[in-house]
Amino acid sequence: MFISKCRMCSGSSFYKFLDLTQTPPADQFLFAEQLKGPEESYPLQVVVCETCSLVQLNYVVPPDILYCNDYPYESSTTKAGRNHWNEFAETTVRLLALEKKDLVIDVGSNVGVLLQMFRNHGTTVLGVDPAANIAEIANRNGIETIPAFFNSETARTIVASKGHASVITGTNVFAHIDDLGDFMNATDILLNQQGVLIIEAPYFLELLQNLEYDTIYHEHLSYLSLKPMKRFFESFNMEVFEVQRRDIHGGSFRVFVRRRGVSQRPVSGVIAELLAAEEYARAYDRATLDKFARDVAQNRTDLRRLLLDLKRNGKRVVGVSAPAKGMTLLNYCGIGADILDFVAEKSKLKIGRFTPGGHIPVVSDEVLLEQQPDYALLLAWNFAEEIMNNLKQFSDRGGKFIIPIPNPKIVG
Ligand SMILES: [Zn+2]
Repeated sequence: MFISKCRMCSGSSFYKFLDLTQTPPADQFLFAEQLKGPEESYPLQVVVCETCSLVQLNYVVPPDILYCNDYPYESSTTKAGRNHWNEFAETTVRLLALEKKDLVIDVGSNVGVLLQMFRNHGTTVLGVDPAANIAEIANRNGIETIPAFFNSETARTIVASKGHASVITGTNVFAHIDDLGDFMNATDILLNQQGVLIIEAPYFLELLQNLEYDTIYHEHLSYLSLKPMKRFFESFNMEVFEVQRRDIHGGSFRVFVRRRGVSQRPVSGVIAELLAAEEYARAYDRATLDKFARDVAQNRTDLRRLLLDLKRNGKRVVGVSAPAKGMTLLNYCGIGADILDFVAEKSKLKIGRFTPGGHIPVVSDEVLLEQQPDYALLLAWNFAEEIMNNLKQFSDRGGKFIIPIPNPKIVG
């Protein structure tokens, strides 16, 4: 459904600057028997709110289509990822002086990787995740997880059985939520008086400056930056008091939010600095956003040219890793099974299926090593170093990697 109001400020004046065409949801990997059937696709267009400056998709795919359908995302698959979650827990436990009595609730907790780290650092933990198959894996791993959407009802149930939370975390989940007012009501019910909400998400300024257009997909409704978030939280009588920047997912930021007037701790100076940086970059100006869109179109032209040249010269090209962002890149650039023989991937939930849209078979890394193609397009370029290390055998035998973003380049 196309939106009529901004999800943070309810403003209705938008400027549309990017159209990534009509694509199927990035996590709808297909089984062989589904390939012949119809495949739904939806508009993937980006607008900026001219009232509060939130960058967002203008079309919302219903969450029951996106998430409950045997959702194949498992967050624990890379070492860099695990190190990141450990650092997250350690930093937070120290900053907020958390103890055993403090309940940390992770919204969209997936298989429980972040909560595992919080538990290792001594707090009590609880997960909430709407994907039943994923919540089951978490429970089996010993991280208690409620299979539900995070809303007021879920929050009241938790308060009744576990009490209030000292910390609520949402990592790569806040930007996925359409009804943010409902999320904030649930937060208000669940958080104790001194409690802290921590949102971690890719930072829009990084997306803009590094041409990370492939982080745009249907699950990802908002592209967060500090200016609109500050205003949004203030409208719920809360305030941003700390922001930390991290390299993960092409550049993310971690935003700490508390109730207004409950703490003596001063608001960090980083907040004024980041607001100034967003202003200085003219991140919300039409001219800046239009230039971004032109650069995106150029990236598609360059990448297609590179791959088609290789094919014409008889080279065998495949993909490596199949993250959601990779599907935006493949579908927007029109790269399908005619260009890539297969995509090699670690996650058992995706192996044996086919990519949405392009219908490229997903195989295990072993197949890549067995078949030793000439080139491998790195779709999870944010974990490039680790993936290239894992596949050293491929490059030792002469295989080369292609990193698509910000400018397509061949490595190795
Ligand atoms: Zn707005």
